[in-house]
Amino acid sequence: MDAPLIAIPSYGRNAQGHVSLPADYVTALRRAGGIPVLIPPGETRLEQWLDLVDGLLLAGGNDLDPARYEGQPHDTVTDVDPERDAAEFELLESALDVGLPILAICRGMQLLNVFLGGDLFADIPSQVEGAGPHRQGEPAEPRPIEHEVVIDPGSRLGALLGEHRIIVPSLHHQAIDEVAAELSAVAHAPDGLVEAVELADHPFCIGVQWHPELAAAEVPVHQRPFDGLVAAARGEL
Ligand code: MN
Repeated sequence: MDAPLIAIPSYGRNAQGHVSLPADYVTALRRAGGIPVLIPPGETRLEQWLDLVDGLLLAGGNDLDPARYEGQPHDTVTDVDPERDAAEFELLESALDVGLPILAICRGMQLLNVFLGGDLFADIPSQVEGAGPHRQGEPAEPRPIEHEVVIDPGSRLGALLGEHRIIVPSLHHQAIDEVAAELSAVAHAPDGLVEAVELADHPFCIGVQWHPELAAAEVPVHQRPFDGLVAAARGEL
């Protein structure tokens, strides 16, 4: 098979009207042998896009609109993008319907959980007692922080990573609260927050709360989620 095509919805339009995506996602997918295909905002024929590709990567980015999970508006949630939320929900629905391999990162994992009926903490610092740091420099200039994650060795993610206690780059201020019934929580931070989920009875549908793309060039365990997605897109997993 030719190199598999992996769709990545881009970030929404920014204040300058530009469309972007952090290049680390693209680089990690190429390193895995995939061909990244960016989907810009505003696309209405998403099913046609999905017909072209062999896998879907849902990237990080802005917060999900709390209205999506019947959450309360929170004054730290300021950058919602209903257009991006709607497009990614639609892509996810179609991808799940046809069993397309899916890797969902950070916001993408939260979106997967909410799509399947779970919900989120809108703001970790004020809503999760005893929570550890999951980003630094907040709120004005959030930057990644490192923390430990413990992965269920019996999970698909555990088998894929081959390590069960890892240090991850973390950059999020929302987190999964109730896990959707169809998903299994398969990794946790030391404070108990859910750091990864996976969907049983699906060829490959894994969500991670951390940012493997930020460390994939240097740390082999962080390249493996991308390798796994591309292998699944080739039908090898
Ligand atoms: Mn975290």
